[in-house]
Amino acid sequence: MSRIGTRAWVGVVLAALGAVPGAHAQALAPQERRIAAWVDAHTEEAIAFLERSVDINSGSLNLAGVRAVADLYAPELTALGFETRWIPMPDSVRRAGHLVAERRGARGRCVLLIGHLDTVYEPESPFQRFERQGDRAVGPGVNDMKGGNTVILWALKALQSVGALEGAHIIVAFTGDEESVGRPHEVSRRDLIDAARRCRVSLEFETAVRDSAAEYATIARRSATGWRLAITGRRAHTSGVFSPEVGAGAVFETSRILHRFYNELREQYVTFSPGLIVGGTEAEITADRGTAEGKSNVVPRSVLVAGDLRTLSPEQEQRLRDRMRAIVAENLPQTSATITFAEGYPPMAPTEGNRRLFEVLNRVTTDMGLPPMRILPPEQRGASDASFAAPYTDVLSGMGVYGESSHAPGESVDLATFARQVTRTAILVYRLTR
Ligand SMILES: [Zn+2]
Repeated sequence: MSRIGTRAWVGVVLAALGAVPGAHAQALAPQERRIAAWVDAHTEEAIAFLERSVDINSGSLNLAGVRAVADLYAPELTALGFETRWIPMPDSVRRAGHLVAERRGARGRCVLLIGHLDTVYEPESPFQRFERQGDRAVGPGVNDMKGGNTVILWALKALQSVGALEGAHIIVAFTGDEESVGRPHEVSRRDLIDAARRCRVSLEFETAVRDSAAEYATIARRSATGWRLAITGRRAHTSGVFSPEVGAGAVFETSRILHRFYNELREQYVTFSPGLIVGGTEAEITADRGTAEGKSNVVPRSVLVAGDLRTLSPEQEQRLRDRMRAIVAENLPQTSATITFAEGYPPMAPTEGNRRLFEVLNRVTTDMGLPPMRILPPEQRGASDASFAAPYTDVLSGMGVYGESSHAPGESVDLATFARQVTRTAILVYRLTR
């Protein structure tokens, strides 16, 4: 998931953030300068690899495609001395599985690097191919988050190039279902949580955030909960609608509920949105697909809505759920409605440990000759896999590439800042594993 707030500033290019060559020569240690030089010399290789990974469709429900992306990454990690495992999910979870790679060592802190193999673009999407357009590239998942995965891989290669992986304890966890998490979470997130339990620091590589003033670090993320509305009305000829016997029909009842959600539930740190809706005499939602049938002269009997809810705290989550239930219960004549909430993502709270980790990142940034970073307000981001690691480790999220339009055709990555993101990650991991 990318889950950046809708403020238009995301992705604004900032010329002032461009590194001045040589400006960081004094601040970085000699080994770190060699790492940076290796990255600069190998960025085109990284972009070519990104293209290969983007051209493999890996919609969350395309299990073979997700596995194929894992098969692209696995030998790269094995070549870096990682013990690499494919962990399939049980058939009942209906997701592909995860790629977990570990390189054992005792020096410094154990660092968990989190990416995901899947994208929101299933094989039916018209958006399937990587296309380079000068200093940017467009493609499904190029930003969210095959770009971030590639940052992880090339940062590790850069560390290997100077022998810096020796003695470090690093785990790479690429989940196969981040955009549509398999249920139950205790099965689909067990291996990610196991990895987090064994580490002290987690870095997650969802899209990075900047605006005209600064680059931002993510030390907190909101929760994410899916909800389903099921509305039932009385099927009848439309000539009888509004009569005591026929009532309002399922579609008017649905519009009442959603209108009141929109007008009454909006508050700071909260977002919610119905993402899929089908209705008519019959309606059905299976996974991410809805079907309906009906006639313009028949009062609709059934509507289904799938949506999401994001909050900053458990208290806020509970309060919003209670208010949604109360609105849903006030039915129009001859209709009924229920709302159910799925297993959600926990919030990633802005802890002191995350703030200290931010200071380490910020020092790397200024040592590279870049302006200081800022902390992103928590409402700017929703949940991700980092949320599952947050209870066990210090976490920084949004360490990936700069890009635009995650989750929409036209999604792009900024190639001009690609090397910088790799270098920053490599030096951060270098310092954390000393
Ligand atoms: Zn993502």
